[in-house]
Amino acid sequence: MLKYFYQFILILTIFTILICIFFIPTNSNIKIIDYAENGELLWPSPGFYGINSYYGRRHAPTAGASTFHKGVDIAAPQGSEYVAVTNGTITFAGFLGGGGYTVTLTDENKENGEIKYSYCHSDPNLIVSVGQKVVKGQVIGKVGPKNVYGVVGNRYFDSNGNPTNGATTGPHLHFGMRVNNEYVNPLNYLKRK
Ligand SMILES: [Zn+2]
Repeated sequence: MLKYFYQFILILTIFTILICIFFIPTNSNIKIIDYAENGELLWPSPGFYGINSYYGRRHAPTAGASTFHKGVDIAAPQGSEYVAVTNGTITFAGFLGGGGYTVTLTDENKENGEIKYSYCHSDPNLIVSVGQKVVKGQVIGKVGPKNVYGVVGNRYFDSNGNPTNGATTGPHLHFGMRVNNEYVNPLNYLKRK
């Protein structure tokens, strides 16, 4: 009986090792860096390259804004267009809490997993919808206003009590990037022209 138990443990161990070898990704960022260096990712806001707030730890600029900034704030004015940084599918288009009106582009074709790009504080008149396939460079939205009205459940307000487009102090493009649902610094992957 004990012999079978040891055999079972042995088989279980071998099986576990095989699972680890084939299914746990290692160094998942390496290929993505290559991907950006190959010039495959476009800058999201053509013509606007200034950064108002970098990725990482910071003082929250407004109530409800994160003290760990999970993206970069690009100094693009209200109404300026932003583009798909790569080919992909729109997986979110709507109001999303602190992000305000948000468009999320997903590139699911990467060998190392799924990459998501989010464009926050957008114009409420969204021009893409969930499930839509878009191509690199395609205009997928515009930078929105500071204030938006009529959003049910919006918890964000400015100092005058007017509802805001998520946790924001003024028009800009917040651009976030997730690799397998982990936030990464977009500036490690995007090239400013
Ligand atoms: Zn931001």
